This record gives sequence, C-alpha cells and structure tokens, in this order.
Amino acid sequence: MSMIPDEKVREVRARATILDVVSDYVNLKKSGSNFLGLCPLHGEKTPSFSVNPAKEIFHCFGCGAGGDVFGFIMRMEGLTFPESVKFLAKRVGVVIEDRPPTAEEKRRTDELETLRRILESAAHFYAGVLMTQADGEPGRVYLKRRNVDMAAAKECRLGFAPDRWDSLSRYLEQRRLPLDAAETLGVVRRKESGGYYDTFRNRLLFTITDSQGRCIGFGGRVLDDSLPKYLNSPESSLYHKSEVLYGIDLAKQSIREKGTVFIVEGYFDHLALYEAGVRNVVATCGTALTISHVKFLKRFADKVYTVFDADKAGKRATFRAMELFLEEDVPARVVLLPSGEDPDSFIRTCGVAAFDEKVNISQPLFDYFFRDLCQQTDTGNVEGKVKVLEELAPRLLKMTNSFEQDLYVKEISRVLGVEERLLHGRIGRARTPLSQSELSPRKVKKNRRVDPEDMLLSLMGKYPEVVQKVQAFGVENLFGGELIAVAEDIISHMAASNVIDWPQILAKVNSAEERERLAALFVDDGHLENIDTQKAFDQCRLALERNALKDMKALARELATVDPGSEAYLDLLGRIESLRNQKSRMI
Ligand SMILES: [Zn+2]
Repeated sequence: MSMIPDEKVREVRARATILDVVSDYVNLKKSGSNFLGLCPLHGEKTPSFSVNPAKEIFHCFGCGAGGDVFGFIMRMEGLTFPESVKFLAKRVGVVIEDRPPTAEEKRRTDELETLRRILESAAHFYAGVLMTQADGEPGRVYLKRRNVDMAAAKECRLGFAPDRWDSLSRYLEQRRLPLDAAETLGVVRRKESGGYYDTFRNRLLFTITDSQGRCIGFGGRVLDDSLPKYLNSPESSLYHKSEVLYGIDLAKQSIREKGTVFIVEGYFDHLALYEAGVRNVVATCGTALTISHVKFLKRFADKVYTVFDADKAGKRATFRAMELFLEEDVPARVVLLPSGEDPDSFIRTCGVAAFDEKVNISQPLFDYFFRDLCQQTDTGNVEGKVKVLEELAPRLLKMTNSFEQDLYVKEISRVLGVEERLLHGRIGRARTPLSQSELSPRKVKKNRRVDPEDMLLSLMGKYPEVVQKVQAFGVENLFGGELIAVAEDIISHMAASNVIDWPQILAKVNSAEERERLAALFVDDGHLENIDTQKAFDQCRLALERNALKDMKALARELATVDPGSEAYLDLLGRIESLRNQKSRMI
C-alpha cells in the first residue's frame, strides 16, 4: 500500500538511471549494448550481472535476480518498494510528499521520529563519554584491558554510561526530548517518587542498530563481576529482538561480496572478528537465533558459519541453529574452537591466522551433529543405533539437496553398520513432495529460453516493426497465459508514445519469478543485433505452430487414457479444440 503518487515514482525513475545507481555498488564495464559486472547480490568471480541502460533494467544470470532500479535497491538495501522509492528520491533530490497523512498517521510518525531522535542522541552521548570525557575513563581502561582497539570501538559505536543516576536523563532533558518516550525505549526508568533515572550506569554500551545503521537499542556490560553481566534494551516499537542481528549494518556489504556470514554469540566476539578484519560477522547477542534471523541472512548470504563458544551451551546453541538452517535450506558449517575458548579469547590469544585455519577445517553442521550424536550414544547395540537413526531421519528429510541427502545416508549407514535401504525406507516415505524442489528452477528457465514465445517477446523489445507484425497477427494467436498481457502492454506503449517503459511493464507482472525471467529475456538482447526481422518472426510463428501440433498430439494421447464423460475428458477436449482454433488462425 504505497502512499507515493505514481507520477512521483516515475519522476524518481527518470532521474535515478539504473546505470548511475548500480554503479554505486558494482564496477560495471561496457559489453556490447549492455554493462557487465560482478553481481553484488551473490558472491561470484566471473561477471554475470548485466545492466541494460536503454531499457533501464538489470538481470543476473548467476542468481536470477532482475528488475528495474527500484527492484535493485529493494534487494540491495533490503527495503520494501515504497522505501526504495524514497531512498532513491532522496538521492536524486525529488521531494516526495505522500498524500496528506491522517491525524493518526501523523501522530504515529511524529512519535517514531521522537523515539529515533532519543536513541540517536543517547548513542551519541554514550559514545562521546567513552571517547573523550573524564567520566568515560573506566570504560577506556576496561577496553584496554581486553585489548580492544579504540578505532574499532568507534566504528562499532561503543559507548560508556557513567556511574551516575541522571547523566543521560539530564542530557535528553536539555535537548527537550521527552523522558516518558525515553522510558518506553528502556533507556530511562520512572522513579516511584516521580521523575526518571538512567537504566544504564557504569556499563560499557554496545549500540544495537537496524540494517541501515539506525540505533534501536543498547546492550550494556558491567566492568566487574556484578550481575547482571549484560543488560539489554527491552523490546520496543523500534527494537524487535527476534529480528535484529547485532552488527548487520557494518556487515551487509561484506556478506554480499563474500556470500558468507559468520554468526557469533557475543558483542566481544563480534568486536574481535571485526577488529581482525573479518567484516562479514553478526552476533545474536542475548537471544537465540530465530527463523526470522535466518530468513533475513538468507537474503545476503549463500552460506553461514557458526562460531559459538566451545562449551556445552555453545554446542546446544549450534544444534538449535542447525534446525533453522535445515528448515530454511541454508548451507551451514561450524567453526570449532579449542575447548573453553570463545571467538574473542581465541583470536586475541592465537591470532587471526589461527582463526582462518579453523575456518578452513570447518565442518558441515549436520556432519558435526551426526558425529557428536554417535559419540554421545553407545552405538554398539541395537538400542543405540535406533536412537541415533530416530534423531537423524527427520533432519535428513528436511534436506532438499538429494545428493547431499544420499551421501549422508551412505555415510550414516556405514558408520552405524546398518543397511542404507533401512534409512532410505524411513526417509523415503515423505520423499515425493520433496522431489518437487529438486527440479531446479534455473534448468527450467534455460529450457524455456528457446521458447518461441520468449523469442518473439525479445524481438518485440528490439524491433518496432515486430511489434506491428504481432499486432497485425493478433496477440492471442501467438501468446498464451501471462505473456498475452505483456505483449499487449508493449503494443500499447508503442502506440501511445513510440517508446516502451520496460520497468513499468515488468512491474505489472505479478509473480517475482516470472518478472525475473522476463528481465533476463529483455536485458540480454545482444544476440538479436542485425537480424532479418521478417524471417525471425516467421520462424517463431512456425515454431509456435509446431508446438501447438505437438501439444495437440500429446493431449489426444492423454484423451485416450481417461474415462469418456469424466470431467478430465471434457477438459482435455476443450483444450484440444482451442489449440485447433489457434492453429487454424496461424496458417
Ligand atoms: Zn547474482
């Protein structure tokens, strides 16, 4: 439900050319009429990311992403459509006045604005104390003791809350920021006697931000052994623990470039990796990993590494995380540290090279789970074997990669000394729905690239005279399904203004998958240079006719197998009839 008027969207699109916008993220090189670069949305070494500046659209032949400039920003910045329009509007200096907000909406935006200002002011205040003020000395001493570099502390927006009851409350008050609103964010608390006092006192503070780097809360650590060791901001209208990963704003670019992400548990683990130059790192901080976290990371990374503490709790957290990765089909590996170490202690004592070494010998998470299970269970007897198999079977079922699944079945059978058939039998039962996802969508796409309908559409995109031919011949005689609307759109754009607004045509396509497929079709039109359009059109038409004939034959064969008079029979008859009509129109 965008509140942005269409003409504003068009204005932004006209000013924010796709080449300009993408160039901010990707090093593009001219290649024919297109520009080519390394895809910023997935990690790759050979460029498959293509921008068609004439059509104002992009497509990646590696990961399948494609669309217009807004689609690019939505993926790149993790924004919704209206957010991406506003993001680019700001950049190109288009003022977007949404339709006048209702009183309720206005109250709500003002409130949010105030909350954001309070948190940004607080973050600024705490960082200032840590970096420059006398009050911040205990924090600086503490960081020094833990060998934390102040430059990294600054980049990660660390702060210090002085050992006073009212330093933040007074700071906010001076800036006329309402303390009752600050209370809902958990940075101050209400006194019984009236007035407010600071929540965080004598604590080192970690600024928790959203993916765009806006402060949404704090995590505060004591400097000694007092309890609680960590005090985190409570949930608020800005801070939703199950969705936030600490450090994502600093990490997202690197995660995209590398295609991988390290997940650690604590703030200091994050800091240690960050300082060691590992930028693709996020921390869960006080909450267990959730399915929303995994879904979010999936947008940026192809593979995750868990680097949790080498103790019982760390292992439990690792296995809990594994369930989510299996659920979301995210390849996951576990980086194992020597017993008793956490990432912070390990990197600070052994160095980053030793850490890299541990990454190199990391294990697939499921493999680790399986070996651990065998170690914890006496598999020398039937009871033990059954127990292990019962644990593994439901998880094997979740694997969508059938090679991986088969290899694990082999390995598990070998280790346990049971027949593969036993395990296959167990996980085979629910196998049928899974095999659906084995049909790689990319393969389907490839096969369809030679589809005459697709070819005809790309020809229409390249040559106005083909648009005329299609129009003369009748769109519905050449295209089927959703493509009818696309072809009709192209014709009406040409009729109206002699130019085709490709982003708009793509925007009308409902399914994201189909939209990306079409983007590929339209971006990649270099091979259509200098061809005889009449000949190409005729070839497409004939191929369509042949296909119709083939379909008709296949339907006729199917017709012979169903019960005459049944619903399926009538349906098939209807389809044959319409193909026959289509064919007769073509000839
Ligand atoms: Zn890509």
